[in-house]
Amino acid sequence: MEKFYKEVLMNGIKDMIFILEVVNNDFRFQFINTAAMERLNLSNQIIGSSIMDIEPMEKAKFLYKQYSKVVESQKSYTYEDVYEENGIKYYAETDLSPYFDEKGTVDRIIAVVRDITHERNALSNAMEMISGLAESNERYHSLFFHNTDGIFILNKMGYITDGNEASEHITGYKIKELFGQPLKELLDKEDTGNFDNLINKALKGTNQSGDLIFKNKNGDQVNIIFKIIPLIIDEKIIGLYGILKDVTEQLQSINKLEESEKRFRIIAENAHDLITLVNKDEEITYVSPSYKNILGYYHQEYLKKSFLHNVHADDQERLVEIVRNSISSGEPFTIQFRQKNAEGDMIWCESIGNPVFNHNNTFQHLVVLTRDITLRREYESKLKYFAYHDSLTDLPNRLFFKEQFAFAKEQFLTNNTPLALILLDIDHFKLINDTYGHDTGDAVIKEFGSRIKSSIRDHDMVARLGGDEFVILLSNIQSSNNAIEIAERINHAIRQPWKLNGHTLTVTTSMGIALASSQRTITESSLMKKADIALYEAKESGKNCYKLYNVNSSNLPSYTHKKTKL
Ligand code: GH3
Ligand code: MG
Repeated sequence: MEKFYKEVLMNGIKDMIFILEVVNNDFRFQFINTAAMERLNLSNQIIGSSIMDIEPMEKAKFLYKQYSKVVESQKSYTYEDVYEENGIKYYAETDLSPYFDEKGTVDRIIAVVRDITHERNALSNAMEMISGLAESNERYHSLFFHNTDGIFILNKMGYITDGNEASEHITGYKIKELFGQPLKELLDKEDTGNFDNLINKALKGTNQSGDLIFKNKNGDQVNIIFKIIPLIIDEKIIGLYGILKDVTEQLQSINKLEESEKRFRIIAENAHDLITLVNKDEEITYVSPSYKNILGYYHQEYLKKSFLHNVHADDQERLVEIVRNSISSGEPFTIQFRQKNAEGDMIWCESIGNPVFNHNNTFQHLVVLTRDITLRREYESKLKYFAYHDSLTDLPNRLFFKEQFAFAKEQFLTNNTPLALILLDIDHFKLINDTYGHDTGDAVIKEFGSRIKSSIRDHDMVARLGGDEFVILLSNIQSSNNAIEIAERINHAIRQPWKLNGHTLTVTTSMGIALASSQRTITESSLMKKADIALYEAKESGKNCYKLYNVNSSNLPSYTHKKTKL
């Protein structure tokens, strides 16, 4: 019988069995069964050896600790450990049981080692599966409930069985109101056919999408990008996911953009002015058809060219500066410049530029309106000419004289080029008017002006102050002799025969000369006053002569020549 038990113990049990003898705090192998021998590649030779001799140090220490626990506690004890063989992890559960001698001390330990690798692997796979499921469930939960797109879960007929919060926002209905309703009911009638199509295709197993118009609870149209995805479980389609992306706002802003683009086009295509768009690289991206009328170029000629294309070389620097400043400051600008037309002429233009920025404050383009101002500039320069000239004689007028005097004075102060005035008044002009008529009087004034003009130097200037009174501004006069010389020349010219309107006339003039000798005191009115006093002297001394203002003249009774109105 004992032999039978030993046989069972040795060969009949698949678990590894060790019996260890407790000898002086050491544990020696007394028995190992066949399963242990085969599994651990051991033989009966280890019988009598200590665990310290057989096992590697670490493992031996570990086992020593476990066995000691049983000896001390005199109770059974179970532990688990892991070991590796040929790179494969094995898990083992070891039951240690004490065996007592007659005195009741533990003299043997029976170790039964069970391989639990399979169970362990199965458990850890199950754990992984469970945690994976939980995770994907959570992911699904988050995807469904927190999605900003509306999601409906539909049965195969397209009836609503669930929906997320966003679907409530989009439709305006609570899910409980929609539960069991066909999603189709929420569609604009015109789109129900499209919807059926999408559903039928999705039920064949492929994702579908389309643009549909829904009606929300208020009856407003909602533009939706609709996606329909088959809901497949165990390879069977059990329902459908309907995903609704509300694009109403985007569509409205696209429409607005298209609308404003259209409006811009209508204005630009029909505008008389030139309309140009310039991008951030300073390239022209659009020119209006009016380019053809105004400059003679087709718009293609300008596209993708620099905005300086055809601009007069002398105006380019100014234009670049004002354009760049406008883009960096965001301020509009106005500039006049010249550009070449198709005939090669430079035409004057005025541009008003406005930089356009998007909602992120990023520069988009410059919108430039340009007008041909050649005629306006001509008109302006004519106006300017009229403002500065006398219409009868075409000579500079009082205003021009004043400005010219200020300039000559500046020259005098900086370059020390002294100046002088000669004030002239025709003698007995009233008599000429009375005798020959006003027209002849006019002709005399004209001729008088032109004779003076031809008697003076190029850099001098004669102006008609009014009536029969003229003034000559002489610059760079070194002495009174220079001025007298010119007065003599004028006298000579005036003395030449006068034949006007069929009449032969005698015309003479009186002149008052004043020299600006001191830079300190020079003003236009003081010099004019001196010339006026000298002219008065000339008239007083019998006319047809010139007088030079001198200190004695200034001692004359304070009297201003009656016609000098400066
Ligand atoms: P005096 O010798 O002292 O200079 O006398 P005057 O006769 O020349 O008379 P005065 O210089 O005081 O007046 C000039 C006159 O010229 C007064 C006015 O009737 C006349 N007159 C002023 N403007 C014009 C004009 O544009 N055309 C014509 N024909 N006569 C003018
Ligand atoms: Mg006169």
